[in-house]
Amino acid sequence: MASLQSVRGTKDLLPSQIQDWYFIENIFRKCAEQFGYTELRTPIFEYTEVFLRGVGDTTDIVGKEMYTFDDKSGNSLTLRPEMTAALVRSVIQNSLIQQSSPTKLWYFGPFFRYERPQKGRYRQFHQFGAECLNTEFPESDLETILLANRIIKSLGIAESNLQINSLGNETVRANYKEELKNYLKLHFDKLSEDSQRRLESNPLRVIDSKDPKDIEISANAPKLKEYFDNESADHFGFVIKSLDELGIDYTLKDNLVRGLDYYSHTVFEFQSSYLGSQDSFGGGGRYNRLFEELGGKKAPSVGFAFGVERLLLILEQQNLLSNTAPRLDFYVMTSNSNDLPVAISYTDRLIKMGKSANYDLHRKSFKSQLKDANRLNAKYVLILGEDEIKNNQISFKNMESGEQITIAQADFEAQISNLI
Ligand code: AMP
Repeated sequence: MASLQSVRGTKDLLPSQIQDWYFIENIFRKCAEQFGYTELRTPIFEYTEVFLRGVGDTTDIVGKEMYTFDDKSGNSLTLRPEMTAALVRSVIQNSLIQQSSPTKLWYFGPFFRYERPQKGRYRQFHQFGAECLNTEFPESDLETILLANRIIKSLGIAESNLQINSLGNETVRANYKEELKNYLKLHFDKLSEDSQRRLESNPLRVIDSKDPKDIEISANAPKLKEYFDNESADHFGFVIKSLDELGIDYTLKDNLVRGLDYYSHTVFEFQSSYLGSQDSFGGGGRYNRLFEELGGKKAPSVGFAFGVERLLLILEQQNLLSNTAPRLDFYVMTSNSNDLPVAISYTDRLIKMGKSANYDLHRKSFKSQLKDANRLNAKYVLILGEDEIKNNQISFKNMESGEQITIAQADFEAQISNLI
């Protein structure tokens, strides 16, 4: 029978890769905690309505990319394509917002989008993200950027580019949208098909289109900044000035709008030249209206997400991945399977002492057990051969140096604490 394959656009995480995932996850957790964020875990599926209302039906995500299905009771459910809407749903439901203080949350987990798979783009991928909720001031925009930046540095990513823009407040954005629409309508025939379709519903997306036809038209489009009021200019000014003072490099990018409907004020993205065409490995921005859209009280917020697979691609290009399976501390061998209970008892003692330890599960020859110990990358082999058993002794072999010593079984615990 033909063997079964994983679904297109999904990947197995193999034992040789898991150490690198632990490495990244530990850095996420440590940095998030340093900034006072705590973790929130939500289910991987939600009622479809959460994303319809929370992401917006004019976006590619909702329009084309969601894994939506009816369950057996006829409820429309969706595998989460992003976290922010689900997180806000959970925060409202669990009353996690406290008056006049921020709620700071981070998350990590799988997300699902029906996109055309290619390098760095999958149908199941992972994101780490952080959200600073219930804060309207630009210092919270700054804090999320600083957290993202700390993570990038802690991972050892050598080259990354922070691109930043402001969409202004909602009034500014709404006025601008109308002006932009009027301008684009004049050039309707020259726009790409996608942009013609988006013109009414989501005209901002036209100016960040990568289609050469759209780029030409957008070049002369009215600029959002020209419509800024004082509040919008002050908010963004604070973020930019602070980045300057902290010595954090950035590029101002007028046409950065991000795909989602809910952003206002600061939006940002992280790019890396290591990534090729899918060069963005993270992004975020401020969203002030989302809580109300999802039935909660007003709680202006800001957040970002990194794509974990893309971070790994960058680390791989920089040769920073270990690609090794976890090491075993001890492999306990016997030369005679009658002595297996002794090996099991020593393994048990090692485990109780907090070490990692295995004994042979295949009743193999002594030589094959040694091969197994090598395959498992064991640091030490414990040998309970016939002589050792007879003399109440036990031998230790250091698998790196090849050095071997034999001691009395009574000295076992003391010897272990000398070793590791
Ligand atoms: P977004 O939620 O679209 O702003 O995406 C945030 C980050 O998630 C992106 O910068 C990517 O690094 C990552 N990402 C988004 N979609 C995918 C995908 N289909 N496959 C892999 N990574 C993705």
